Amino acid sequence: MKNRAIVWLLLAGFLAAVFGLFLYLRRPVEYRSEQFLMDTFVSIRVYGRDREKLREAVTAAFTEMRRIAELSNRFPPTGTAEHRTSDVCRINDMAGVGAVRVDQDVFSMLESARAFHDLTGGAFDVTVGPVMDLWGFGGKKPHVPKAGNIQDALALVDNARLILDRKERTAFLEKAGMSLDLGAVAKGYATERAVLALKRSGVEKALIDAGGNIRVLGKSAGNNPWRIGIKNPSREGDILAVLSLEDSAAVTSGDYYRYFESGGIRWHHIIDPRTGYPARGSRSVTVVAKDAGPADVLSTALFVLGPEKALETGKKLGVEVIIVTADGRLLYTLGIRNRLEVLDSARHRHDQG
Ligand code: AMP
Ligand code: MG
Repeated sequence: MKNRAIVWLLLAGFLAAVFGLFLYLRRPVEYRSEQFLMDTFVSIRVYGRDREKLREAVTAAFTEMRRIAELSNRFPPTGTAEHRTSDVCRINDMAGVGAVRVDQDVFSMLESARAFHDLTGGAFDVTVGPVMDLWGFGGKKPHVPKAGNIQDALALVDNARLILDRKERTAFLEKAGMSLDLGAVAKGYATERAVLALKRSGVEKALIDAGGNIRVLGKSAGNNPWRIGIKNPSREGDILAVLSLEDSAAVTSGDYYRYFESGGIRWHHIIDPRTGYPARGSRSVTVVAKDAGPADVLSTALFVLGPEKALETGKKLGVEVIIVTADGRLLYTLGIRNRLEVLDSARHRHDQG
């Protein structure tokens, strides 16, 4: 009798060990990698079974992102190989001269930018290049420009004078001195291309973080939604709320990503194309949507519009919006309330809509 019990016990132990080994071998492995792209650190984290396959998938995703980054970079010096591969440089060089045939992805970004320019009453405008140059955010010495110079640069900001020809797939800036800036479009677009590359390689769980552009694929490793922190613009390292995210994008535009201080004022890189000055009213705008491309464009556009208009426009366009206002309030569209955990530290009220 006693022997029998021991045999059963050994057998149970053996089965438990086999089962444990089985689970161990089937555990999801993580692979992550980071690259400096589009002026920011981009990290890609993926989960699966086979580390080598994951590594290949991430390499393919970065290759795709780098291709978009190079096509849309407007800063490489004239004469360099980078300058020649950039469609945006070629369009800008040909301003006032002639149309330039561009890559399909660049054309898609320009068409999307045009659509959102129209949908946001001009708050979003990729022809903002001359004003950006004046502020110098892309370079080493950003500074507050003279008011007269801003007026001169604004005369060159005009979306209607960006001519897109779908049949020829060309872009033309009609007036000499005009220039395109895809800074608010390219990261989201590239992120979405990276997601496609990951999917093509069979990846089902991923998180891409491209400096404020978060895109998740599937659920997290533990099969729960991913948890994304909404940053406190007033205190680095602090978060105001946690967003649960699954198979979608959460893109944030904030006044804390690129700025300088002068005369006690924070001058940041999101410019109201109607005034030529940094947009006030919001400190950060997060747009939650399926696709990182439109989410990136909209986070910038809604930042420019100011909190009230932003919530209204977000609702109209069917995306969720989370805003930290200039006076520190946390506002959000009602559709997101079950996915947003507001931390005690955040004073808040939600949109009544
Ligand atoms: P994001 O970080 O996505 O909000 O994009 C900010 C970048 O977009 C800036 O660094 C500029 O390159 C560009 N930008 C700034 N203001 C605007 C605007 N009103 N419309 C379109 N692009 C803009
Ligand atoms: Mg953006």
